[in-house]
Amino acid sequence: YYEQIQQAERLKTTGQLAAAVAHEIRNPLTVVKGFLQLYQKDAGFSEDIKGKFTLMIDELNIAEQVITQFLSIAKPNKETEIETVNLKVVLQSVTDLLHSYGLLHDNKIELIRVEDCYIAANNIEFKQLLINIIKNAIEASKIGDSVIVSAGRNKGFVEIRVVDFGQGMSEAEIKSLGTPFYSLKSKGTGLGMMICYNIAAKYKGTIDFESTKGEGTTVTIRFPSKNY
Ligand code: ADP
Ligand code: MG
Repeated sequence: YYEQIQQAERLKTTGQLAAAVAHEIRNPLTVVKGFLQLYQKDAGFSEDIKGKFTLMIDELNIAEQVITQFLSIAKPNKETEIETVNLKVVLQSVTDLLHSYGLLHDNKIELIRVEDCYIAANNIEFKQLLINIIKNAIEASKIGDSVIVSAGRNKGFVEIRVVDFGQGMSEAEIKSLGTPFYSLKSKGTGLGMMICYNIAAKYKGTIDFESTKGEGTTVTIRFPSKNY
């Protein structure tokens, strides 16, 4: 429990710092992106160069994404509306969204056994949590493997399971999850799990990992169930 408090404090400090830095970075990025978008329409540049502008804009969009993620944790007291989240609806929309991402890696996302269940949270935040976790599962998977997602009620809680058959994690790696910038990926931000833990904590939810190196990972997300 003490560790949890420490983790929360660490997240808060990091968040405040992030907010300041993010604002300073976002403005110059917007300016650069604006010029690139102008040049893209400029007849004076060859198609080849314009293709490079597109790549540059794509990269700037990624940087923007990181900043947006940062800001979402940087304002823990920002008022977000608490809604009744319909798990069936959210899971369908998230798997649809990630379907093309899975195809990119030749992975299938299988949505199985989704019971009618509801939680009290903000739809956008909860969606973000699911996207981060399912994206990690896809990224850990071997080509052609499935990622299996299911949801149901259990003793006053809603449980969502995300199962992959990918690279897995050691105990030490699991412990590092949620540490800012902890990433074993060449293009990772190392912010995804930090955001997930933050969102879960906000709604009294938990995220647990069971994993075996080389065999795969099961993520269990638990949120207090809401009657509807
Ligand atoms: P990122 O995805 O940007 O690296 P995350 O915070 O989402 O940052 O994840 C941190 C690290 O945790 C990943 O780099 C990866 O090494 C590990 N990880 C997360 N989910 C899984 C998973 N399902 N299987 C194996 N490793 C995982
Ligand atoms: Mg991630």
